[in-house]
Amino acid sequence: MKYISTRQQQETNIKTAILKALADDGGLFMPEYIPQLDSQFFETLPNLTLQEIGFRVAKEFLGRSISADNLKEIIDEVLNFEIPAVKISENIYSLELFHGPTMAFKDVGARFMARMISYFSEGKPMKVIAATSGDTGSAVASGFFGVPGIEVYILYPKGKVSPLQEKQLTTWGGNIKALEIDGTFDDCQALAKQILSDEELNQKFTLTSANSINIARLIPQSFYYFWAFAQLQKLGKPIVFSVPSGNFGNLTAGLFAKKMGLPVHQFIASTNENDVIPKFLETGNYEAKPSKQTISNAMDVGNPSNFERMKSLFNNDVVEFKKEIESYSFSDEETKTTMRNVKKEFDYTLDPHGAVAYLGLEKYFEKSNEDFIGVLLETAHPAKFVEVVEDVLKEEIVIPEKLEAFNKKEKKSVGFSVDFESVKKYLIEEK
Ligand SMILES: *Cc1c(COP(=O)(O)O)cnc(C)c1O
Repeated sequence: MKYISTRQQQETNIKTAILKALADDGGLFMPEYIPQLDSQFFETLPNLTLQEIGFRVAKEFLGRSISADNLKEIIDEVLNFEIPAVKISENIYSLELFHGPTMAFKDVGARFMARMISYFSEGKPMKVIAATSGDTGSAVASGFFGVPGIEVYILYPKGKVSPLQEKQLTTWGGNIKALEIDGTFDDCQALAKQILSDEELNQKFTLTSANSINIARLIPQSFYYFWAFAQLQKLGKPIVFSVPSGNFGNLTAGLFAKKMGLPVHQFIASTNENDVIPKFLETGNYEAKPSKQTISNAMDVGNPSNFERMKSLFNNDVVEFKKEIESYSFSDEETKTTMRNVKKEFDYTLDPHGAVAYLGLEKYFEKSNEDFIGVLLETAHPAKFVEVVEDVLKEEIVIPEKLEAFNKKEKKSVGFSVDFESVKKYLIEEK
């Protein structure tokens, strides 16, 4: 399988696509075609385990670049937690993606990416650079923690992540360094890009990016769409997925699953007020905007990076786009009301991101009269957004032990202003 840049100027193998993350022409890597799974796979799907599904799907994308034994070992390590489809109501299920070490869905992608980078770097020392607005950084840190030869630098905006998120970024020690930048997330992302393209740094070190652009984060996110079918197919109804979306990596992985043969009836891209994609599907014009702050802040994205991948999947055809994806945007007020209603009516606690996805299902159900199973992707444990959830529900959220453990540790970070030269100096001199 070859990997090709969305801007068409670079063609390479999976190893280079993963180690480089961003193509030389500035595009994102895509497989040259989406592989198909055979009918036997789909017939046996309800009897497969999550790990077996992960192995079969990953093998299609990785081909002979890794042995079956090595891949199996990696998949078993990555998917060592549950991803249950939990019933909320008669026809709505929550696919809980948050049972991993940092309790957000980004664990799935980040853990797989970390192991693939470690595998393909063959023990050569590497520096991994990640800018984060919150959840990505901790999932990446968790994935790489203790991996020999790999140093991870996480750039995060000072004072703009939640107290718990900050603890999840800054308490690892060892090979994980937290750089606290006195600026915005966009500043962090710009600094990360500058580091990755700096000639001197690239001569001194092998650098790579751990941001969501890496194809190794996308591939494993397609596993759980199959897994949801394995759990819910027996209900005998068409399945609709609602995906709470920011950079649209999660949704793009779902589109991969469908192109591989999974009979998904409909995808719903649910967003907060950062509505670039819903607007695009409405008007046909793509207009990036500065991001707006909302209570579902992991989706506060004004220029979704995976738009480029989705365009390439749909051959730049808006009509094709519209056929596969319904997209709606919701306000914070609607999100809060839904969190309250679902708690009251079904005794299920949604986090703000999951609530946006729930709203997407409701809206789609209103529009169409058919009988579906709606699956919302619940991307974070409510305790990750404890301040918001407690404020909305007016009740105490129990913090799981896994998260509480971070709170007990001591923060360690290095502070910087938004100044590339001082960050660069740190990278060169840091031991
Ligand atoms: C990152 C994130 C999202 C958005 O996922 P994308 O793949 O960027 O669309 C949604 N919810 C949570 C909790 C996240 O951390």
